[in-house]
Amino acid sequence: MLDTVTAGTQDGSTDDLAKDGVVGVTIVWADNNGIPRSRTVPIGEFDAVAERGVGVTPLFAVFDSHDAITFEHAPLGTPSGDIRLVPVSGRIVRLAGQPGFAWVPGRQVAADGSAWPYDQRSVLERQVSRAAALGLDFLAGYEVEFHLSRADDGDDARPVYEGPCYGPAKMLAVDGFAEQLLHDLHHNGVPVGQFHGEYGPGQYEFSISPADPVTAADRQLLARQTVHAAARAHGLRASFAPLVTLGQVGNGWHLHTSVSRAGVNLLSGGDGPAGLTAEGGAYLAGLLRDLPAVVAVTAPSLSSLHRRRPGYWCGAYTFWGVENREAALRLVPATELLGAAHANVELKPSDASANPYLALAAVIAAGVAGIEDGLTPPAPVQEDPGTWTDERRAEHGVRPLPATVAEQLGALLANDRIRGALGEELTGAFRAVRESDAARADGLDAADVVRSYRWLY
Ligand code: GLU
Ligand code: MG
Repeated sequence: MLDTVTAGTQDGSTDDLAKDGVVGVTIVWADNNGIPRSRTVPIGEFDAVAERGVGVTPLFAVFDSHDAITFEHAPLGTPSGDIRLVPVSGRIVRLAGQPGFAWVPGRQVAADGSAWPYDQRSVLERQVSRAAALGLDFLAGYEVEFHLSRADDGDDARPVYEGPCYGPAKMLAVDGFAEQLLHDLHHNGVPVGQFHGEYGPGQYEFSISPADPVTAADRQLLARQTVHAAARAHGLRASFAPLVTLGQVGNGWHLHTSVSRAGVNLLSGGDGPAGLTAEGGAYLAGLLRDLPAVVAVTAPSLSSLHRRRPGYWCGAYTFWGVENREAALRLVPATELLGAAHANVELKPSDASANPYLALAAVIAAGVAGIEDGLTPPAPVQEDPGTWTDERRAEHGVRPLPATVAEQLGALLANDRIRGALGEELTGAFRAVRESDAARADGLDAADVVRSYRWLY
């Protein structure tokens, strides 16, 4: 049922979209909680909006996960001001699942059109340019895990299917949804490697094929919209929350990256462990060095902290391994069958509560710094250090990743590389929303906290 359309950006003009029945364009960005926010403009207004943007409040930088606005970040301490949300016009896509609408990522600029330091997409663009100036190129791809329940179940999130995981019967249970999802992802220009019924009850997963980092982040947002629309069309409701229900497996959005120089993947073809080159090893070592601060950005929410437990393949400790699924950093090496281009590093503590642009910026900043500093990674760990004694973990330099908001923020604020990548203003706003989230959760039952994140992403 897949038509052969050119996947990706739309070449036609907005007149063509209008003739095709598109009535509005939804301009989307992700806030500091990883929550997509948007403005929709009538199709006839789009060309003007592409020039001048639409006005939005600067306070979106200090919205917390539950839509409260915190005024604890002094530069955004009043309700006054306005910025412009400008669509990245070349990326406009007609939504297969909402044919009356097109979708486009946005960037936020100051009222006079100059750069606005809180714009997350620009933060990533800066890191990509910085890496490119050093001759380094990146590819990135997300695995998207999610939970499906019946829409008429309300907030209960009872899993849509509870039989054996990974089986075709699990796919059959959501057959119409699965068919529409693959169709719509293709039409919306989100290339997918595979789709399966995941481990958890009602849990499913697809992987988005690798692309340059900004495209990967744009597609991750577009994929969310595509899933929500397909679920809705089939009486289902999707939760992307890092943890849907306390005690269950979480939804990881594992982030795969590879780094190359002059077209050659640095993660393969070398003399290091599993074929790492010296620079590829340095990339991995850079990620490991800054892991607590990186994870404060890639898995930042209270839901992320509840998801992170040893034994759940979600990366609870600071170590790397070769194809070790318990490792926070899993090296997926090149093989003869798959070729050198296939080699990549998977970051497991990464989820939908991360802003995908900031997440990729943090990863690139840490990895590139490792290359600049010529770091060497420790030996890979092939076991599950969660089963080790504290002493043995200490001997191998394996530490638990931060378990509280205060620990996460401590790691982020103490790390000049990741702070520098985000910029002081954005780091300040990011800190304020994390603290606002923590204050809201203070004294609440863990199950209630987890439940409060269920439908946000
Ligand atoms: N669901 C696990 C997580 O929270 C990941 C399982 C897997 O490796 O696919 O990250
Ligand atoms: Mg998975």
